Amino acid sequence: MHFYRSKYVLPIASSPIEDGVVGVEDNRIAAVGPRSDFDGPFTDLGERVLLPGFVNAHCHLDYTNMAGKLPFRGCFADWIADMVVLKRKWWTSDYAASAKAGLEALVRSGTTTVCDIAASPSNLERVANAPVRVLSCLELIDVAGKAAAEKFWDLCAGLSPHAPFTVSDELYRKTHSFCRQRGKIFTTHVAESSEEAAMFERRTGPLYELLAVLGRSPDDCGRGSSVAWLDACGALNGTLAVHANCLSDDDVARLARAGATVAHCPSSHQFYSHPPFPFERLRAAGVPVCLGTDSAASGTTLDLRSEIRVFLAAFPSVRPAEALAMATMMAAKALNRPGVSGTLTVGSCADIIAVPLAGATTDVAEAVIVGRDAVKWMMVDGKVAHNEL
Ligand SMILES: [Zn+2]
Repeated sequence: MHFYRSKYVLPIASSPIEDGVVGVEDNRIAAVGPRSDFDGPFTDLGERVLLPGFVNAHCHLDYTNMAGKLPFRGCFADWIADMVVLKRKWWTSDYAASAKAGLEALVRSGTTTVCDIAASPSNLERVANAPVRVLSCLELIDVAGKAAAEKFWDLCAGLSPHAPFTVSDELYRKTHSFCRQRGKIFTTHVAESSEEAAMFERRTGPLYELLAVLGRSPDDCGRGSSVAWLDACGALNGTLAVHANCLSDDDVARLARAGATVAHCPSSHQFYSHPPFPFERLRAAGVPVCLGTDSAASGTTLDLRSEIRVFLAAFPSVRPAEALAMATMMAAKALNRPGVSGTLTVGSCADIIAVPLAGATTDVAEAVIVGRDAVKWMMVDGKVAHNEL
């Protein structure tokens, strides 16, 4: 076993340890505690905090280099249409460069696990030898044609039918039951915008009109929310529901009954000026909420510390330690890796980062969050994946 020592160890699942060590054996964490409790060779990482690598519950690595290219002009449907145009202009080499830039951003920000929404099967190859754990979820859309063939489904960590406005109830049923049977991640965008609410609840609005042009039947609209629509498909059970910005109390109750988890993307939420995120109502109903970055196309940097800062600015009563857990332990649980990633506990994967202590704060979690320097030391699966110390 080899030990790594730093000023603080922050296991997330338990309290911070001053002058702590983490013992690593092969690719697992074999010990966590005060340095005085252990003998053995150790690497001193100095005045830093050792904590589990961040776990990003929702990202689109392929769109990283779209940052700044798609300004939001006030209409979500227009933004989607702009993105479709830009995607058609991009070459394969553009997507490859973009995914590479995304992975580099994850390393710089201390993210060791990411749920990446792969827009096509070719994306899977681009992240095959990534320096961090990429859990690829193949995105499926059948609003204007066939979705990616089933032969690719087994190659993925999970599936991600895009959203209730672009995916048929038949495809939702099929993908949900596939993921349930194989223990794969099932994730989908839902209730993201007020335009999606207008479409499903009132058969009106820009998104409703855009989808009509694309040939989507309006027959299922005007009956209730998109969350209720998903529930009726049986596709809400255990689902990682991304965004969930526009929720009625009935929607919140459905998510709770279904055992769903919500992935909130604070910067993306801010970029589109969505209605306030219903965090307190979700928390009161017992719906777990974890954090993701969404893509850089919607104004994010793929840096979860930055996402936590945006989240805490909107919800100042949330404790820094709780917010930090949403970007580590809670996200790992949502991605079917409870106790494996997102905590420093004996037996979990050795995915560890060292973050400089920032500010004069006495709260270790807060000291991690307020820091803006790049993360200079990262271990993934027991191997040092990045070291600029
Ligand atoms: Zn997304």
